[in-house]
Amino acid sequence: LEKVSDDPSKLKPRPPVVTLMGHVDHGKTSLLDAIRKTNVAGKEAGQITQHIGAYGVDIPGKGHVTFLDTPGHEAFTAMRARGANVTDVVVLVVAADDGVMPQTTEAIAHARAAGCPIVVALNKSDLPTADPQRVMGGLQKLDLVSEEWGGKTICAKVSAKTGLGIEELLEMLLLEAEVLELKANPDRSAQGTVIEAKLTKGQGPVATMLVQNGTLRVGDLVVAGQHYGKVRALRNDRGKAVKEARPSYAVEVLGLSGTPEAGEIFVVISDEKVARRLVEKRSLEIREREIKGFHPKHLSLEDLYSQMKEGRVKELKLIIKADVQGSVEALTQSLEQIAAEKIKIRVLHGGVGGINESDVMLAVASDAIVIGFHVKSDERAEVLIEHEGVDVRFYNIIYEAIEDVRKAMEGLLEPTMKEVVEGRTEVRQIFQSSRIGKIGGAIVRKGKLARNHHIRVIRNNIIVHVGKLASLKRFKDDVREAQEGYDCGVVVDGFNELQEGDILESYRIEKVATKLV
Ligand code: GDP
Repeated sequence: LEKVSDDPSKLKPRPPVVTLMGHVDHGKTSLLDAIRKTNVAGKEAGQITQHIGAYGVDIPGKGHVTFLDTPGHEAFTAMRARGANVTDVVVLVVAADDGVMPQTTEAIAHARAAGCPIVVALNKSDLPTADPQRVMGGLQKLDLVSEEWGGKTICAKVSAKTGLGIEELLEMLLLEAEVLELKANPDRSAQGTVIEAKLTKGQGPVATMLVQNGTLRVGDLVVAGQHYGKVRALRNDRGKAVKEARPSYAVEVLGLSGTPEAGEIFVVISDEKVARRLVEKRSLEIREREIKGFHPKHLSLEDLYSQMKEGRVKELKLIIKADVQGSVEALTQSLEQIAAEKIKIRVLHGGVGGINESDVMLAVASDAIVIGFHVKSDERAEVLIEHEGVDVRFYNIIYEAIEDVRKAMEGLLEPTMKEVVEGRTEVRQIFQSSRIGKIGGAIVRKGKLARNHHIRVIRNNIIVHVGKLASLKRFKDDVREAQEGYDCGVVVDGFNELQEGDILESYRIEKVATKLV
């Protein structure tokens, strides 16, 4: 698809698209609801906003603001990891009776990594225990200095409970949008991002799409991911049929051939043949990737140097998690001070605590490396690390972390993990068990096969699955390993497509001793 650049003279101001973030229980959901209720135009007509993933608020005579309905930095960064940048402004919700908390810090890091400006909403200002000055002090330490204190950050005192300050907040968002000079060309074919999609019984696939450029109209031919279709109807966030959606407006789209994924880009294409070919090509690519077990490779410290040389990386982004704040600061300072000509180090986020999903997601979306100091990653983070192939490194000595990063920048870092192939096992026969699924009767052709090995299932020299064994048996007994020349029974975990003739290549991942300097 060719990118059509717009003639600057055709660009017109567009409303801001806003996401709410903040610590749990600081009032994101309540504030979204309260904002929804201030939607005067909607109330007058007796219309209730529907949950379609985004909604708009009209500020009569002043403008319009679109809010994404899924608050939180996790959702925000998950979208970004899929390549979708839809938020123009982040509203950071901080409870005025509480202050800066771990997820507040995370949210700031996520917004900044995306280059999104932050407007602060000091929520729960109705409470007698609210202490906005103290909260602003906390924010200042994170370089968010309120205008009141001579800084640049807009801080609005609000209450989701009483409605206090909400109209002012909306006006401030419009002000921020003006400063950002958000523009789009409404007079062209539409493109944007899928916010969510579902399959309904009566109407088939329904997708909420945020128009980011152009105008989307009934009758347009839309391609989104692996799906396409002629727009049969458009519905706004009040459930009302509309004929078109302009830039920064979200609408439900009826008429697609299936449900695209959230975060998928959509485009309007005039030629049906082109649309169909595009969709076919995409489906094929996705299937190929699934078979090969391919997932996009993220930056690792080991290939930092070659990436730098090729000019692909100009900045090394890090996420640092440690057991105490003092270590976070010591590491951040020492790392940022490593002098290098060709590359800058930027710590996207530093915090106290184990490595969680949100850290890994941020690394995925920003191509960053995660450093854990005296901490571990939690179970869910572990799954994501493995799935996404993010480089996460654990240290117990600050000096070692700094040395590794320094060496990586000079291309001197030795790989720390190595794969050791242990054996090849051939599947001779398949037995179907109603309880466990496919069991392979196999023979170890070379080396050995152990219960805890990593497994690659190879068919006609193509890797069709990568994973682990669910069980390994000799005759009726569970065994730890089977040696060359012996028969065994195997069940591959999470893979029920085992076939006769498949080869199981078994391997171990070995840590290579790092050389002492
Ligand atoms: P979230 O986790 O950030 O989405 O927070 P919620 O919106 O679920 O709010 C957490 C709690 O704070 C709920 O019990 C709300 O009723 C309460 N709450 C939210 N906003 C306000 C407010 O402005 N004033 C007061 N007093 N309570 C609030």
